[in-house]
Amino acid sequence: MTTPQTTQLVVIGAGPGGYAAAFMAADLGLQVTLVDPAENPGGVCLYRGCIPSKTLLHAARVIDEIAAGADWGLQVGSVEVDRRKLQQWKDGIVGQLTGGLGQLVKRRKITYLQGRARFTDNRHLEITGPGDDPQPLGFETAIIATGSLPMAIPALSVDDPRLWDSTAALKLETVPGKLLVVGGGYIGLELGSVYAALGSRVTVVEMTPDLLPGADRDLVRPLQRRLKGQLDAMLTDTTVTAIKAQKNGLRVALQATKGEKIPAKLFDAVLVAVGRRPRTAGLGLTNTAVVVDDKGFIQVDAQRRTAEPHILAIGDVAGEPMLAHKASHEGRVAAEVAAGHRVVYDPAAIPAVVFTDPEIAWVGLTESEAKAQGRKVTISKFPWGASGRALTLGRNEGVTKLVVDPENQRILGVGLAGPGAGEMIAEGALAIEMGANAMDLGLTIHPHPTLSETLMEAADAIFGTATHIYRPPKKRG
Ligand code: FAD
Ligand code: NAD
Repeated sequence: MTTPQTTQLVVIGAGPGGYAAAFMAADLGLQVTLVDPAENPGGVCLYRGCIPSKTLLHAARVIDEIAAGADWGLQVGSVEVDRRKLQQWKDGIVGQLTGGLGQLVKRRKITYLQGRARFTDNRHLEITGPGDDPQPLGFETAIIATGSLPMAIPALSVDDPRLWDSTAALKLETVPGKLLVVGGGYIGLELGSVYAALGSRVTVVEMTPDLLPGADRDLVRPLQRRLKGQLDAMLTDTTVTAIKAQKNGLRVALQATKGEKIPAKLFDAVLVAVGRRPRTAGLGLTNTAVVVDDKGFIQVDAQRRTAEPHILAIGDVAGEPMLAHKASHEGRVAAEVAAGHRVVYDPAAIPAVVFTDPEIAWVGLTESEAKAQGRKVTISKFPWGASGRALTLGRNEGVTKLVVDPENQRILGVGLAGPGAGEMIAEGALAIEMGANAMDLGLTIHPHPTLSETLMEAADAIFGTATHIYRPPKKRG
């Protein structure tokens, strides 16, 4: 590794936050050094997060579609999973995308250092590459983008390869006969669905009363109904109290919050997916004035500056929501700040998508948040049973929902459950960013037959003028 002595901007961590920041800064004319332990940029999202999981979820979707085809007269027999080929397909996609990012680093003339960075003081780092002695690097501005790590449950940690975190689960080394998933959040439900489709008998344990605690219940219901047919069991209000490694599996003790004792069960593997924590260990932050909060997130201001104004932080390490698109947007803002632009990170709405089948997506204010805030809102829903497109897909269980300001019909939030929800939610994000109201959405011609028409019809339903459902007419503003 040839390390330059100094750099105008150093970006620490090349995930979707870090590489977006480095690319933007280089495009703005800064001299940029990007540091990451991997050979190419990508971070958690590309190597062990968004991309491998979505590849496997697509495969799971195809398996389920093949089974559903029988109802429409399409008999193709049972699906045989070639695990190694599926693994290769997934790894090939990751390689293609991360290799492409490596090329973009070169095209932009960014210095890429494969290694780990550690602050020695507030103007200097030391970079340790594979097999190298630490090399010093001085900087004018630094952007910390070191991401996050899976949270473990210390009391349940057994040193056993059958106890998985999401990284282990994504390797697809085996398809266990019986899999326990601890945590009914994003990862638990996405990867639990994958293994269920691949043939595992999956049990999900969630400590709160319901799956996906952050989402509105009416959006979660269609998923819950479908999962009932795919999972062995969904145990809500339940926690795992002990895991014991045995020759024939992992013996797991469970406890219902309400008190009843659940007999211990044996599983071939256990996936723990109970959240992620910011990654700052080993960064040498104590050699700077950078401050972390009680959850370990680096504290930043609206420009993403830390307590050291020339050191910025973005992405998972700088706070919730821990989502790739939030990290990238923040990264691009931080790059502009590093270039001296007077900008702030101030998104009106950040979309969230759970890529299960059906997908669940929401953006802006949710109905539950409005209720918790005591804020009056109008809720309008369009059931997908009335959508021609949903029926042609054999999927009538979805719902499109708008959360609207009753004073001026401004769109405050959008929620979707159904196939393709993750694509459609971007229209909701645009509506909120642009301050659109329900009339804007209703008067926009949407192509037919598409699922996107449900957004237009949910908007029309506010005035009682939706074409494909009846709601009592109301005065239009
Ligand atoms: P990261 O992607 O975590 O990248 C940080 C990088 O910094 C890593 O490469 C790390 O090795 C490096 N690093 C750490 N310390 C140092 C150091 N000292 N020196 C140099 N480099 C260092 N989000 C979505 O929006 N959509 C999804 O579909 C989605 N799916 C996911 C599925 C899974 C299984 C998981 C685990 C996460 C998923 N996420 C998803 C979340 C998403 O991956 C993260 O929000 C995103 O990767 C955060 O980007 P980041 O740039 O902040 O950090
Ligand atoms: P999560 O916060 O989404 O879900 C964790 C779940 O585990 C919660 O429902 C929580 O109540 C439950 N839980 C916590 N402790 C428990 C215990 N002891 N026993 C049983 N249940 C317990 O976290 P995750 O699924 O690990 O994902 C981490 C983060 O990664 C997400 O919050 C998200 O930011 C990101 N992610 C995003 C996507 C996506 O955008 N599609 C996909 C995967 C991950």
